[in-house]
Amino acid sequence: MPPSETVAPCGICATLARIRRRESADLVAELPRSFLILGDQQFYRGYCILLAKRHVSELFLMPHGEAHELFDELLATARAINRVVAPLKLNYECLGNLEPHVHWHVLPRFASDPRCREPVWVRPEAERRVGLADGDRRELIEKVRAELGRVLPSAHW
Ligand SMILES: [Zn+2]
Repeated sequence: MPPSETVAPCGICATLARIRRRESADLVAELPRSFLILGDQQFYRGYCILLAKRHVSELFLMPHGEAHELFDELLATARAINRVVAPLKLNYECLGNLEPHVHWHVLPRFASDPRCREPVWVRPEAERRVGLADGDRRELIEKVRAELGRVLPSAHW
């Protein structure tokens, strides 16, 4: 599929529509260029996904200013997650092979993970599929929100 700005049937656009209808419990915050959600799979505790608001398949297709604003939101997200879960390292992945809509996976890595030097996707999905209790999940979202609000005042929810 060639790079595009057209909206094909896109799972991320569908997720954005649910977020805008307030039907997503995963929303951490709305930012000027993106929505931040907490990932379902919390083996990497604090794992969040930053979804570009607009359907664009490649970063280079975004106007320069828009791409930079999105990157600033990624940096703010990383700072917030870092403060909440204090990882050994943060990983950033902008892939789009399954969903060609610009999004960033932000994945905290911890020294307690024996595979912490390897890419996250090396770990089988069945092992990554760690859910959190509702209260724990809610608390984690609230903490990331609070930190994000401190580093990026335009964040809201
Ligand atoms: Zn899309």
